[in-house]
Amino acid sequence: MEKLVYCTENSETELFIGKPWYEIGDHIDISNTIIITDSNIHSIYGDNFPSCPVITIDPGEQTKSITTVESIVEQLLEKGCDRTSFLLGIGGGVICDITGFVASVYMRGVNFGFISTTLLSQVDASTGGKNGVNSGVNKNIIGCINQPSFVICDPEMLKSLPEEEYISGLGELVKHAFIRDAGLLGFIEENIGSILNRDHNLLTTLISASVKIKIDIVTSDEKERGIRRLLNFGHTIGHAVEIELGMKHGFAVSYGMLMAAQISVEMGLLDRNELGRIETVLNKLKLLTDIPQELPDVTEAILKDKKVEKNKIFFVLLEGIGNGVIREIRTDDLVGIIKNKK
Ligand code: ADP
Ligand code: ZN
Repeated sequence: MEKLVYCTENSETELFIGKPWYEIGDHIDISNTIIITDSNIHSIYGDNFPSCPVITIDPGEQTKSITTVESIVEQLLEKGCDRTSFLLGIGGGVICDITGFVASVYMRGVNFGFISTTLLSQVDASTGGKNGVNSGVNKNIIGCINQPSFVICDPEMLKSLPEEEYISGLGELVKHAFIRDAGLLGFIEENIGSILNRDHNLLTTLISASVKIKIDIVTSDEKERGIRRLLNFGHTIGHAVEIELGMKHGFAVSYGMLMAAQISVEMGLLDRNELGRIETVLNKLKLLTDIPQELPDVTEAILKDKKVEKNKIFFVLLEGIGNGVIREIRTDDLVGIIKNKK
């Protein structure tokens, strides 16, 4: 088990990686906690939940809406929750995003924590404090930054994850290696078999390494004014193909990372061998199995990206493996580069 603690301006978050999730009683006051989860997780793990009231929502991204927020708020009121209540989200990214958002606004804010049940949320969504819901097709457009009190990541829970959900999470894990840690990439390359087999101890090591990179970046730039933008590696093009083709996040981001690595080569920042290494590891992790033969027109999706400001966007490139760099480029130029690649 690894315990990590990170602090931001007005909070302290404890992360427990490799801790059995059912030891949750160590962290909460059962008499004043409400669990928020989805029906899939409830059917697999519900029997072992602590004896707190449970609010169950439908699984899936379409549930991440203001309507669901209202419904949860009504149920919290019915259950008599007040400012001292604690919200415990048990689930993947969707549950963490909604629980964090509801906790941030209910009675102007109550404390919250997560048991993070997908690889994607363990290495990404549950740390960093971004909470929010979608509005129509606009992802995470209503949200806030607010850190949980604790996050528990138990790799054992990943054994019940559907294969594509698991593989999708590997996309964000390897992203952290690409942008910050060439050593971690080497370690991933040496352990592909055990990674695909979801080996418990190996996952504890990898999730810890990956989360440390994320924490390091987030704590030096909580509000995303500078270095936090590195975490968007692969995401500008990734989000666009995710929207256009309905791909799962980690697969779309992997495709975006490959494109960004190719652009890095064209700009003379990355050499071809390194690009080859990136493509090989993504392939071995089965992250490029679904990629489109031909890139759809992503112009509109890129122009609508909420990160675009005054027709410019901060695009992340690699100046060598393990060294992400941020370049501000005009969206027209970016669209031009992508169109040329088609
Ligand atoms: P993310 O945004 O982290 O990919 P979601 O919250 O959308 O995750 O969860 C993806 C899907 O996996 C949902 O259908 C959810 O119910 C299911 N799920 C989450 N965690 C587990 C788990 N440990 N075992 C089985 N299914 C899970
Ligand atoms: Zn992402």
